[in-house]
Amino acid sequence: MTADFLIIGQGVAGSVLAWILDQRGCSVLLADDPALPSASSVAAGIVNPLTGRKLVQTWKADELFPFLHQFYVDIEQKLGVRFFYPKNIYRPFRSEAEKNDYLAITTTPEILPYVSHGVDNQLYSAYINNPYGGLEVRQAGWLDLNEFVRIIKGYFIRKSQYFEGSVSYNDLIIRDKDILWKDISIGNVIFCDGVQGRENPLFNWLPYNPVKGQILTAVVENYPIKTIVNQGVFILPIRDGLLRVGATYSWHDLDWQTTDDGRSFLESKVQALLKIPYQIVGQHAGIRPSTKDRRPFVGMHPNYPSIGIFGGLGTKGVSLAPYLAEQFARYLLDGEEIEPEANISRYVSLL
Ligand SMILES: Cc1cc2nc3c(=O)[nH]c(=O)nc-3n(C[C@H](O)[C@H](O)[C@H](O)COP(=O)(O)OP(=O)(O)OC[C@H]3O[C@@H](n4cnc5c(N)ncnc54)[C@H](O)[C@@H]3O)c2cc1C
Repeated sequence: MTADFLIIGQGVAGSVLAWILDQRGCSVLLADDPALPSASSVAAGIVNPLTGRKLVQTWKADELFPFLHQFYVDIEQKLGVRFFYPKNIYRPFRSEAEKNDYLAITTTPEILPYVSHGVDNQLYSAYINNPYGGLEVRQAGWLDLNEFVRIIKGYFIRKSQYFEGSVSYNDLIIRDKDILWKDISIGNVIFCDGVQGRENPLFNWLPYNPVKGQILTAVVENYPIKTIVNQGVFILPIRDGLLRVGATYSWHDLDWQTTDDGRSFLESKVQALLKIPYQIVGQHAGIRPSTKDRRPFVGMHPNYPSIGIFGGLGTKGVSLAPYLAEQFARYLLDGEEIEPEANISRYVSLL
């Protein structure tokens, strides 16, 4: 048996790359070990072109956002499923001063396409603390990541191209013209193993800077707001009466355990923002595969040109994966350049 690609890890990175290569006509084996933790199964899945307190444009937003909207909708249409929900993000101003700052920032030509000022603040005021009003960020939304991963997994299972279990680096036999894995001759192996890449002997020289995050699930009654609300924390309505609230950021205690501190932090923020009662029904923790320079890791191993990595997607995997996976596929199949800021060749001196 032969395959063009073996993709190891099926979070958002592996799912998106496997899909793109499959659609380009390649034979792709997709492998994932459900016993290992996955950031994608914890993440809120929000895509947001303007982030942080200062409404900073996401890196390469002008390319990433039109591409990702089209990408996820295309899969939905091809497979007759639904997992992507475009939505505005409502940002209530914290003060009159912040309102003036934001109004100045949002008149600049690069920010203007992402902002809507014609917001009906009244709509929010019974539910959200917004004494100074707010603005809405456009081209945003959320991907139901668990559903997306489930659908892509089902697609590859139906093609008999899915392997459930761990792929050990020791099981890969690197030969001159291919890689042998379980008697299968494979053209290229691409690791999409998320933060577990730090323990991958082939790529552990890359400078990760993992960030732990926690998120709550809450139930509310009679909450008609359809947008995502964001002020320090986000409130994401995922279904009628069910909200996701997050997230925390921590560079220490890098485990996958939830903590009382994480919950208290998120609750203090949500209490300041949400005017109606809520009940916490869930809490999850995960580790974001962030990198020292906050740019992804894309490319082939300098010494083993048939083994690559697609990872380091940090806090924004859902936004980054489609555009960068498309670029990676063009590199692999057409010999085009990988975005230099994301190409792992920038770290070759660390090897
Ligand atoms: C609390 C929290 C909130 C977040 N919110 C958002 C958000 O709103 N929007 C957003 O874009 N991002 C968000 N993120 C970040 C997001 O989770 C990541 O960017 C993204 O999930 C990374 O995807 P990945 O596929 O690279 O890694 P992962 O999702 O971790 O997937 C790696 C996969 O590889 C598998 N694997 C590893 N090693 C092997 C092996 N040897 N054999 C087989 N399988 C293997 C694992 O089982 C896992 O399924 C959030 C993260 C956290 C923790």
